[in-house]
Amino acid sequence: MWSFNHIYIENDIKDHPRTREILSKCSWHGIFYIDRYLKIFGRKKQDIHFQMKNRSLILARASGELLYRGSPMCQDYGRKQFYYTSTMKNCLYDCEYCYLKGMYDCGYIVIFVNIEDVFAQAERRLDLLADGERMYLSVSFDTDLYSFESLSGYCGLWKKFAREHTGAEIEIRTKGAPSPDGDEGEVPNLIHAYTLSPQQIIDRFEHNTAPLSARIRSVARMLSSGGTVRICIDPIIYVRDWKELYGSLIDSMARAFDIDRVMDFGIGTFRISREYLKRLRRAEPHSEAVWYPFEIKDGYAVYPDTLQEQMILFTSDRIMSFSKSRKNDIIFRA
Ligand code: SF4
Repeated sequence: MWSFNHIYIENDIKDHPRTREILSKCSWHGIFYIDRYLKIFGRKKQDIHFQMKNRSLILARASGELLYRGSPMCQDYGRKQFYYTSTMKNCLYDCEYCYLKGMYDCGYIVIFVNIEDVFAQAERRLDLLADGERMYLSVSFDTDLYSFESLSGYCGLWKKFAREHTGAEIEIRTKGAPSPDGDEGEVPNLIHAYTLSPQQIIDRFEHNTAPLSARIRSVARMLSSGGTVRICIDPIIYVRDWKELYGSLIDSMARAFDIDRVMDFGIGTFRISREYLKRLRRAEPHSEAVWYPFEIKDGYAVYPDTLQEQMILFTSDRIMSFSKSRKNDIIFRA
């Protein structure tokens, strides 16, 4: 049973079947009906940390354009038709460096109950593709979708969508440790994108996320079940002993599974827009991860070039040292 302080429901979707289904899995202290979720979610200067500790849930309808072109700060993994969509806002986890704290003033969880409208827009987009083109759609944006699976069931629905639409590649990114689907088997065009970080980085900055050992076990099981796996070592966070930590992370991966069975790797150093960084620093006044003296380039806060280069080269070389096929083109960098 999921427990919430309050649940806010848009009038428009109060009788939606998914609203009822989600409510059947929740307990709460009060329910409020509202016209539009932004009246609660969009209020300025809310206490995000208090709200994250005392979670409320907002159920709403997503409207307008529901598929967006990927931002230049996101890795597109060489895909031309790169889109993302957001069926939830905010996360069960609490990474100190998370851009969501730079983007939103509210810590409550939002679920858009009308995911079928997103599917319909994705289908329309697929119809417009030229012969041989595929749509790449990242669906765990602005949240960690797997962490809410027992509440929303959205990863399962995306898997079904991927199974029925082979012209789409669906990416679900997580800092959790999901289990492979034993009953229906894995779908090749569903990409399980695991973000892996050294345990010391998880302990310091990625609160409530799955431990590294659990994430690695989950990757190994997913690969054995025939699942398509991407490993993201992104963002690499600067700490004094980063080389030692990220080196031993890659050594642990290579001991647990065959590096060459991973579809590809995404490597990137921490980066965030200057505007988001200002708000993130207000939300995280004591976090070493966000108070690094970044350089500003083209409106983004980044590590100095030489440090970025060292981190990326070191990480990709270490991964390649375990690859028998030595195919450098499986590494994408941000
Ligand atoms: S898992 Fe991702 S979305 Fe969730 S808090 Fe961490 S960085 Fe943010």
